[in-house]
Amino acid sequence: MGFFGKIKAGLAKTRSQLADNINSVINSFTKIDEELFEQLEEILVLSDIGCVTSEQICQELRGQIKKDGVKDPAQIKKMLKAIISEKMAGDTSLKLNTKPSIILVIGVNGVGKTTSIGKIAAKLKSEGKMVVLGAADTFRAAAIEQLEIWAERAGVSIVKGKEGTDPASVVFDTIAHAKAKDADVIICDTAGRLHNKKNLMDELNKIYRIINRELPDAAKETLLVLDATTGQNAVNQAKEFKNTADITGIVLTKLDGTARGGVVLAIKNELDIPVKFVGVGESVDDLMPFDSVEFATGIIDTEE
Ligand code: GDP
Ligand code: MG
Repeated sequence: MGFFGKIKAGLAKTRSQLADNINSVINSFTKIDEELFEQLEEILVLSDIGCVTSEQICQELRGQIKKDGVKDPAQIKKMLKAIISEKMAGDTSLKLNTKPSIILVIGVNGVGKTTSIGKIAAKLKSEGKMVVLGAADTFRAAAIEQLEIWAERAGVSIVKGKEGTDPASVVFDTIAHAKAKDADVIICDTAGRLHNKKNLMDELNKIYRIINRELPDAAKETLLVLDATTGQNAVNQAKEFKNTADITGIVLTKLDGTARGGVVLAIKNELDIPVKFVGVGESVDDLMPFDSVEFATGIIDTEE
């Protein structure tokens, strides 16, 4: 399956709900009136786009319809697609322009951090970069083993400690290893199973202190991983993590298993953090760089 085909397949559930609902509203109106806008807004909210963002989208749609003198409801889909892709547009590339550069991956347990790290490592490796993984989720032995499996699959090296080791010390060792090997990119896993917010904050701060001390001039990315199947909960998680960490991008996983793909819009619009990758499956090549036009097309277009 081609690149675009994969995104489209990954968004199939979202599209079948959102596009079908939009089509049925559009088909049931012969002219554009306030009732149509209300029904449309309700549909957007139902797809986890969020109240605030759904209202904004409808407001923009109203303005544009008025400005262009559009009369035919059939035009609405095309306009919606343009508004959504424009709202999602932005630079989504990873900033890894120093040697080494570092990516810290954070998020609650089970969202797909370790899996996404494996996929990103494989992608960077295929671009000719030398990658080192740091197993700083030391909470469970299984988490370390899982990252090892991904390191092997991606053909990259890994630095690990024993279960229960101080995560910041693993980050320290990983940086030292990367420097010694002259690696290009360090990617550090972290634990999401922390007892409370203060605990999480303290641990992340400790890791940041090590990174800033050992790599003061390095390009740094902090990627927050969110699970799309959790809908508005993902937005709330992003809000909480934003208070703790300087998030540079979101990885939104499990789009393939949910009709709640509209949550991408809520996250970008309400938090102003770019969605850099979307996960559309469990295999190594099921991670896509986010593209706003493909996304908008993927959730709205029913025709091939
Ligand atoms: P972590 O606890 O945040 O490190 O999460 P894991 O990487 O262990 O992933 C938790 C589960 O989600 C695993 O079973 C993964 O295979 C699955 N997973 C991760 N990303 C995706 C995705 O994009 N799509 C699907 N369908 N499953 C995913
Ligand atoms: Mg993990």
